[in-house]
Amino acid sequence: MRTQIAAANWKMNLTFQQGEKLLDDILAAEIKLKDHQKTIFAVPYPYLTMTRSEVAEEKNYYAASQNCYHKKSGAYTGEVSVEMLHSLNINYCVVGHSERREYFLETNVILADKVNLCLESFIAPIFCCGEALAIREAGTQNEFVTKQLEESLFHLTAEQIKGIVIAYEPIWAIGTGKTATTAQAQEMHAHLRSVIASKYGEAIANQVPILYGGSVKANNAKELFSCPDVDGGLVGGASLVAADFIEIIRSLK
Ligand code: PEP
Repeated sequence: MRTQIAAANWKMNLTFQQGEKLLDDILAAEIKLKDHQKTIFAVPYPYLTMTRSEVAEEKNYYAASQNCYHKKSGAYTGEVSVEMLHSLNINYCVVGHSERREYFLETNVILADKVNLCLESFIAPIFCCGEALAIREAGTQNEFVTKQLEESLFHLTAEQIKGIVIAYEPIWAIGTGKTATTAQAQEMHAHLRSVIASKYGEAIANQVPILYGGSVKANNAKELFSCPDVDGGLVGGASLVAADFIEIIRSLK
């Protein structure tokens, strides 16, 4: 079975103490993940070490960064490099979340640089893609996400693409309470997998986890995750409430 992932994206929420308590509460549920299941907490930079320590003894639980800078090192005041994340033993990094694309003007080309740096440091990128409402309404969402993959990922070798996690996050569903239907999610995930297959072959495409993100909640996770090409979720709002995220982890295939 392909790897199934429940990934929390805390964004710029919670104090350190609140974050620590949230992790304690989630881990207190003692959900034993199967070999093919993972839970990942993408937390603010100052909480990475704490989160990594919290999950250190837990099988298949990981800390992730929500971002990294697209240059190796140097005079970039306030930025955090991939090498720094690697030195903290961080295994995952969210790359290209729509909020970064929108508010920080991150382009597909910049994101390709981030992906490269992550892979050089053995950090798996959780690469986000997804269309805005206007694109969905125009019916060009497939072409739009295909371009995002082509411009940020398709320079990678087959070996490298196997180390990527993709998160399909329709922008119109993020933080809006409006979730894609299971049909919409499955259709897009199957499309993404076919795009990867056309470049790298089916065997490799079948190994790449594709997460759904966009108002995943405790009460819809099971249905979304039951789609054959949906391999879990990237979860914002509902990952901030212990009981909800516990339910979401339990909804993994
Ligand atoms: C996200 O943060 O990537 C996200 C999908 O947020 P939400 O679950 O709140 O829609």
